[in-house]
Amino acid sequence: MFERVGVIGVGFMGGSFALACKESAFCKVFGVDINPEAIRKGKELGVIDEGSTRIEDLKEFDTQLVVIATPVRTFYSIGKALREILDESCVVSDIGSVKGHLVYALEDFLGPRFVGAHPIAGTEKAGVENVLKGLYRGKKCIITPTERTDREAKKKVVQLWESFGSLVEEMDPYLHDHVFGAVSHLPHAVAFALMETIEALSQNSVDLFKYPGAGFKDFTRIAASDPVMWRDIFLENSNNLDIAIEAFINAFSRLRRLIKEKREDELTQYLRSASYKRKSLD
Ligand code: NAD
Repeated sequence: MFERVGVIGVGFMGGSFALACKESAFCKVFGVDINPEAIRKGKELGVIDEGSTRIEDLKEFDTQLVVIATPVRTFYSIGKALREILDESCVVSDIGSVKGHLVYALEDFLGPRFVGAHPIAGTEKAGVENVLKGLYRGKKCIITPTERTDREAKKKVVQLWESFGSLVEEMDPYLHDHVFGAVSHLPHAVAFALMETIEALSQNSVDLFKYPGAGFKDFTRIAASDPVMWRDIFLENSNNLDIAIEAFINAFSRLRRLIKEKREDELTQYLRSASYKRKSLD
C-alpha cells in the first residue's frame, strides 16, 4: 500500500490518522504543521516520526501519500503548494469535512491522483494532545471520487482506511455536502446559536450558565468545538447549510406555534414523531 506518508495538519484528526498509519498500516509518517508546538508534541507522543513547519520539507521524505488535515479553507493554498513539490506518483487525499467544489479545486491543482475522503469520526476536542488511538475503527469513511479519479489511487486509499477498520462508502462530492450540511453542519450551527441564546437571555437577568442541566450539557457538547475549523466548514458549505437552516427555522416555528396556541394533540404528535426517529438511530 503506502510505506511513507505525509500528514499536513498534525492536530486531532491528522494526528489520529498518523497514529493509525503507524500502528495499523506500519507506515513511516512525516508531519507538517504551521505550529511548531504541534510538531514537537507529535514527535514526543510518537504520533509522527519526523516533521517540519515547512511544507517543502516533504520533498526530502519521499512520500507515497500526502493527506491534508487542516481547516478546509487552507486546502486551496496547500493544494497549490503540493503541486509544486510532490512527485507525480504521490497520491494526495484529505480528511476535510467539506467536499463538493473543494474536491474539484484540488483535482484541478493535483490531477486524478487526488482522492477525497471524510472519516465520520471526531470529537469537540482539537489538537495533537487529544489524539485517539483506534479513532477510525468501526466508523464510516466517505470517499468522494469523481469521473477523473485515478482508479489505482482510489483503491490504495480505500485499502488504507480499511486497514484502520473503517467502513468505506463512496459518495458524490456534492451529495456529500448536502448530506453532511444537514446531519453534521446544521447541528453544530444550532449548538453554537443555543449558547448565544442563553448568553442573550442572561443579560439583565441571572447568569443562566450557572444552572446547566444534563440535557443542556449533552446538547451543547459540540459547541465547544474549534471555532476556526467550524468557521471554515460553514463558509465552504454555506449554500447547503443555508437550506438546512431554513428547514430548521420552519420546523422550529411550527413547534413554537403548537406551543403558543396550545394545540395539545398536534404537539404530542410532533414530539412523538421526533422521539421515535431519535430512538430508531440507536
Ligand atoms: P485541529 O485544530 O485539531 O488540527 C488542525 C491542525 O492544522 C492544527 O495543528 C493547526 O496548527 C494546523 N494548521 C492550520 N493551518 C495550517 C496550514 N496552513 N498548514 C499546516 N498546518 C496548518 O483540527 P482537527 O479537528 O484535526 O480538524 C482537521 C480537519 O479534519 C478539518 O478539515 C476538519 O474539517 C476535519 N474533520 C474534523 C473532525 C472533528 O470532529 N474534529 C471530523 C471529521 C473531519
